[in-house]
Amino acid sequence: MKVELDLTRRAAEAPAAARNLAGMSLPALKAEMEALGLEPKKAGMRAKQLRRWIHHFGVQEFDGMTDIAKDLRADLAAKYDLSRPEITEHRVSVDGTQKWLTRFQPGVEGESVYIPDVGKSGALCVSSQVGCTLNCTFCHTGTQKLVRNLTAQEIVAQILIARDELNEWPSSMENRKLTNIVFMGMGEPLYNLDNVAEAIDTISDGDGIALGRRRITVSTAGVAPKIPELGERTGAMLAISLHAVRDDLRNEIVPINKKYDLQTLFEAIRAYPDLGNSKRVTFEYVMLKGVNDSLAEARDLVRLLRGVPAKINLIPFNPWPGSPYECSDWETIEAFAEVVNRAGYASPIRTPRGRDIFAACGQLRSESVKKSAAEVRREKLAAEA
Ligand code: SAH
Repeated sequence: MKVELDLTRRAAEAPAAARNLAGMSLPALKAEMEALGLEPKKAGMRAKQLRRWIHHFGVQEFDGMTDIAKDLRADLAAKYDLSRPEITEHRVSVDGTQKWLTRFQPGVEGESVYIPDVGKSGALCVSSQVGCTLNCTFCHTGTQKLVRNLTAQEIVAQILIARDELNEWPSSMENRKLTNIVFMGMGEPLYNLDNVAEAIDTISDGDGIALGRRRITVSTAGVAPKIPELGERTGAMLAISLHAVRDDLRNEIVPINKKYDLQTLFEAIRAYPDLGNSKRVTFEYVMLKGVNDSLAEARDLVRLLRGVPAKINLIPFNPWPGSPYECSDWETIEAFAEVVNRAGYASPIRTPRGRDIFAACGQLRSESVKKSAAEVRREKLAAEA
């Protein structure tokens, strides 16, 4: 009986790879070292050494950790590992975009996308959940039910995988190609804020992965009450998936608007800490033919943004199988951009990247489905039998 209860609890909390240290935050590493029996002070010191080996040098073996005594290294190797979650698919686009489908645990797969920029920079688009609860009508992920939140460790693991692939260890190497992180993959980051905040601590740690907080952008469809909190806890840059400038249309295409309407959303945005010329909010606006792309809407957009330091990313709609929209014509997008631009806002049109490998905005979706606790329990017992 007891075993059954345990399994249910574990399935609900989904502690994928609990004995794996890769991607673990510094406080979690310290807790592991204390659990090994080290005094708090010693545990803190060991955790810092591990952090450096794992997140600065990217090592996957305890053997090379030369400043840790041999017997402790052996002890660590016996209890822990540093491997990455399994990559079930890796595709490279003709434009250099790369996509990984990662299996965090059987049946829990999520996507990450590396987008090289024209210059020296490049961004990794990470997922914060597998599936999504939001049902935005133009988004492919929205057709996949939420499977579960990703843990902080699983979010960081997506970056470790990209770093491995791009050969970008140690963190101090020059001309890194992976310079920015955007939480614009699968899921709604503000519905998983605790794990997202812990992951951002690890990603931005200068003695670890060392990607500064201002190089990390978190995008939300508009979970208004969590927006100021995001800024306070993470110091990250804010992006808002706006897509409509009137409540009636936004209620339809970004249904979370029924809960937090435009006025509530903009009050929350104005309360984002440190907004100013050096910290602007990015507004994403997907261009849907005949739906939200008129010049009147461009002018309303400018009015709506008044007083908010902002830049606007116009995203040509990326189709997916069965999607109910078409992308606006190119001239329409340019005319829309021009209105916004003349009002003094940067309004780059985002070139679609990785469409050929289904890695563009809104095309991410995995086959994972949520299982009931009973199903998980049955599979577990079957596997053990
Ligand atoms: N849930 C968060 C994080 C996902 S970000 C959010 O909504 O912000 C993914 C971005 O891609 C969002 O701006 C989303 O609106 C946009 N997007 C979704 N589907 C798209 C599509 N088919 N074409 C272009 N952009 C899309």
